[in-house]
Amino acid sequence: MKHIIRGKYLITMNEKEQIIENGAVLIENGKIIDIDIFEEILKKSCDPSIKIYGNSYSAVMPGFINTHTHSAMVLFRGIADDLPLNKWLTEHIWPREAKFLSPDFVYDGTLLACIEMLKSGTTTFNDMYFFTESIAKAAKNAGIRAVVGQGVLDFPTPSGSGAKDYLARAEDFIKQFKSDDYIIPAVAPHAIYTCSRETLLKSKELALKNNVPMHIHLSETFKEVEDSINKHGARPVKYLESIGFLEGKIIAAHCVWLDDEEIEIMAKHNIGVAHCIESNLKLSSGIAPLAKMVRKGVKVSMGTDGAASNNNLDLLEEISIAAKVQKGITADPTVLDVKTCMKILTIWAAESLGIEKETGSIEVGKRADIILMNLRKTHLQPIYDIYSTIIYSAKASDIEDVFVNGVPVILNGRHQFIDEDEIIDKALWWAERIKNS
Ligand SMILES: [Zn+2]
Repeated sequence: MKHIIRGKYLITMNEKEQIIENGAVLIENGKIIDIDIFEEILKKSCDPSIKIYGNSYSAVMPGFINTHTHSAMVLFRGIADDLPLNKWLTEHIWPREAKFLSPDFVYDGTLLACIEMLKSGTTTFNDMYFFTESIAKAAKNAGIRAVVGQGVLDFPTPSGSGAKDYLARAEDFIKQFKSDDYIIPAVAPHAIYTCSRETLLKSKELALKNNVPMHIHLSETFKEVEDSINKHGARPVKYLESIGFLEGKIIAAHCVWLDDEEIEIMAKHNIGVAHCIESNLKLSSGIAPLAKMVRKGVKVSMGTDGAASNNNLDLLEEISIAAKVQKGITADPTVLDVKTCMKILTIWAAESLGIEKETGSIEVGKRADIILMNLRKTHLQPIYDIYSTIIYSAKASDIEDVFVNGVPVILNGRHQFIDEDEIIDKALWWAERIKNS
């Protein structure tokens, strides 16, 4: 089955940073098979009745990639705000997770999150949580691509008894989903303060053996750095390097408190960074030196973190805040220019997860993970620089059509095969139980 996606601007995010005016994409079996101006694509499709999506007011671009989240935590959205990370985690989140974490909780929460993400232009998300089969099932049912990392910790949760158990689950999950079209399995050692050296290294061995990415929280708070110096005699990144953890494809979330030497180490080992500015601001964890990381060649991308600390999963809001905060703290308005911001949302995010051959740009041979923004809106006109319109003026609701693997999942802002009302009622049902616990 072939179809065409067209627009006023076709923003490829390829190496040449090409934007094709009145461009179109020809899609077959979920993959991009041709890119050209619309009239040419129409001719080449050899089918006058071919289905065409988009119009002369659309911006066509690669789907956004959320490189750090815990999707199911949407069910804790707004449950405890205005608290520091430690108190928030130990007094509010962990006790409730201990009580409610189950395959059903994770499935229902992840499905709600998937719909929110799709409707704001996210076509791939990188998740770290528990009951990974439930995450994968929800993502596949919602029609979104997901990198799914089994959380690994040294202590028990309702989903496992300890590191050995989580690692065994991770291995099973990898076997089950290694060649899936939508799911990329990963290993997710939670952090250096929840995983021993042995657990970290076993996670690495498992990831290397199966050639899957690793996903970790790193240097999120100043306390983590102080504790690392006290316990290991080194800052977090230096500690990970010293134990031989930094091998293979790694995405590290937060990286708020890196010093210059640690940034060099991140660049040297090609570690991707998931910048979670809203979560970091909201929990007062600090502000990551993102502009410096970009300058030093570290591959950066955006994560929303879980919705309990954000409190949404909207990447356009995230990047707009990130860009402005970096300009503010560096007193340099040229950092994180709009084109760099688009790369952070798309191709750099794909590269930091090691999935750039599949997604992250609109190029022949890649999977058709494509979003359409409706530009015929008063707050988006006029347009002088389409990147500027997207990064500084657009809202998530301007993204009206979303394709994953070539499949039209969202059209005119509605999910095409999930009953959104049913999911909302499920969320209300969970909230009632959580509130009364
Ligand atoms: Zn997180």
